[in-house]
This record gives sequence, structure tokens and C-alpha cells, in this order.
Amino acid sequence: MTHLAGDSTITCLHWLTAVAARVTPGRQLPRELSEAMAVPKRKHSNSRTGKRRAHDGKKAPHVCFCEQCSQPVPPHTVCPNCGSYMGRKVMEVES
Ligand SMILES: [Zn+2]
Repeated sequence: MTHLAGDSTITCLHWLTAVAARVTPGRQLPRELSEAMAVPKRKHSNSRTGKRRAHDGKKAPHVCFCEQCSQPVPPHTVCPNCGSYMGRKVMEVES
């Protein structure tokens, strides 16, 4: 770290101190460092991480079927196969 000049050295020191504070629960940061950056007070529990990731799973897309041609269509969408919506023809489809 001696090769770094000025601000970079200070930033690196901040980072190291923050890491040390994270792995040592309850350790107080020096005032000038705690004002410089936010440091989590304690570790996130595995439970909390799991709760956050509960909605991260990939879900299958919803599928409806066209009333005219029975092709699978995304909901609230004009059928790309026959151009109908809710059983009514609403657009011309090139074939
Ligand atoms: Zn259709």
C-alpha cells in the first residue's frame, strides 16, 4: 500500500478497517471512519438471506389458449396466429 498515493491509501485503510469491524462483531470504529462510511452493525442471518431470496426463483410464464384457434397465447394478448382477442377478430395476420 506504500506505492499508492494520497486518497487511495486512505480509502484502502477505510476498507480494511470496515472489514475488520465486520468480522469482529461489536467492535467500535474510530469516529472519523464511522462518519466516512456506513458499516453494518451485525451479520445478516442465514434466515434473513433465505427470506430475501424466497422470491428470486424463476417462475414459468402464464399461458392462455386462443378461443378461435386454441393456440397457446400470453394472457391479455392478441393471438399472433389468427389475430383474435376474446373471441373477436381484431387484426389481420399475414400468412
Ligand atoms: Zn388464435
